[in-house]
Amino acid sequence: MIHTQDLTKTFQLESGPFTALKPSSLRINKGEFIAIMGPSGSGKSTLLQLIGGLDLPTSGSIAVDGVQLESLNEHERTLFRRTKLGFVFQNYQLLPTMTVAENVALSLSANKTPKAEIAARVSQLLAAVNLADKSGQFPSQLSGGQQQRVAIARALAMKPALLLADEPTGNLDRRNGEAVLRLLSQLNKEEGITIVMVTHDRQAAAAADRIVMLQDGEIVDTDWKGGELQ
Ligand code: ADP
Ligand code: MG
Repeated sequence: MIHTQDLTKTFQLESGPFTALKPSSLRINKGEFIAIMGPSGSGKSTLLQLIGGLDLPTSGSIAVDGVQLESLNEHERTLFRRTKLGFVFQNYQLLPTMTVAENVALSLSANKTPKAEIAARVSQLLAAVNLADKSGQFPSQLSGGQQQRVAIARALAMKPALLLADEPTGNLDRRNGEAVLRLLSQLNKEEGITIVMVTHDRQAAAAADRIVMLQDGEIVDTDWKGGELQ
């Protein structure tokens, strides 16, 4: 699903160049549930943004589901993001002036899905995250855990094969965090969705099949559980 080779990200700061991700190679198979861990500032979000096509590498290559991301133009990258993967953020990033149903429908509307089809898909997604009764509410009327489940439903709207999540339980209390992790595990086991989740939390990481450890912009351990180590 994901294959990076000498993937590098350098930011140009006023004080000079700063390499947030040192040349690293990583292979993630279809159907895996991966946790990316490491200290704050170790490059976890940088790596996830590169995988999600939200940012471009300075050098090296990254293929996601057979698409070579560094060779896409801006328009192709937008299309890739919209159709190939879902992204979930720590702070949910729901649109506050839209209802739960409208938030979930965003990428479907952007892809010009017929209205009746959108309504059916939104109901199905909200049922899957156990929020069928919240469709007409606004994000501010929901708990953090409920908002994060809306964000996950939205990320799944286009039926992506890959779900990326940056600290999805970071703002949640234990009970809500566990509900979100159970949902992610279920999506991975039952729907076969590949999941790459950045987390600080050892307990959250325990939901994953394998842990990729970052330190100072370097992948230091991939806790490989069988198969070929890159
Ligand atoms: P993590 O998610 O592991 O906490 P990040 O990937 O967000 O770490 O950041 C890694 C390093 O790169 C940090 O030192 C951070 O300050 C730096 N960094 C991240 N994004 C940018 C950016 N857009 N411009 C400059 N520096 C950045
Ligand atoms: Mg981060």
